[in-house]
Amino acid sequence: MTVPGAQQPPTSPVQALAELQAGNRRFVTGSPLHPNQDAGHRAAVADGQHPFAVVLGCSDSRLAAEIIFDRGLGDLFVVRTAGHVVGAEVLGSVEYAVTVLDTPLVVVLGHDSCGAVQAAREADGTGTTPPGYLGAVVGAVVPSVRRAAREGTTDVDRIVDIHIEHTVEVLLEQSVTLNRAVQEGRCAVVGMSYRLAAGGVRVVHSVPAGDDFALAAGAAPLAPGRS
Ligand SMILES: [Zn+2]
Repeated sequence: MTVPGAQQPPTSPVQALAELQAGNRRFVTGSPLHPNQDAGHRAAVADGQHPFAVVLGCSDSRLAAEIIFDRGLGDLFVVRTAGHVVGAEVLGSVEYAVTVLDTPLVVVLGHDSCGAVQAAREADGTGTTPPGYLGAVVGAVVPSVRRAAREGTTDVDRIVDIHIEHTVEVLLEQSVTLNRAVQEGRCAVVGMSYRLAAGGVRVVHSVPAGDDFALAAGAAPLAPGRS
């Protein structure tokens, strides 16, 4: 349902990424609009949802998607796990948004000083496994820690970048449905890193890759690295 005077939601990956980055800029500069959070919009979207982005983010309490992208009800389809680790339910949730809701963008959202990454680095370094289901989270991050080690880096925030890229790859490797949507140009997958203190997001990886996608959306350079 369209609200009179409301902007049409983005329908392409490029538009969706640009909208998220515009909202994040408002958040960073302390000038949020808090769009789509009023009673009128709540009523308007009660009949159905058309979110323009899936956000698979870390569960960290400081990483609330609607706040840091300055969006409201019906805008973002949010899936969060510690360390944005991927399991069957996560894949199913992402596939639901992409295939049933036609959501054109999937964002993997990590952040600096991620506790899950630090725990995985410690567990791998000491050869220990955390008790209970914590072990499943840590175990899913360890491959990123080892990949970073092979590249000679031990810096947590650089490991975070590698883990974000790894999560994008895992999504595309494991979900045939998502992979097909990307191949057909209906969807894109972008990895972003959020800075807890500054509040800004930075693109660290995207599929499709390359400047065409990033520049069209006004994104930061895609080359991995610390900002
Ligand atoms: Zn985290």
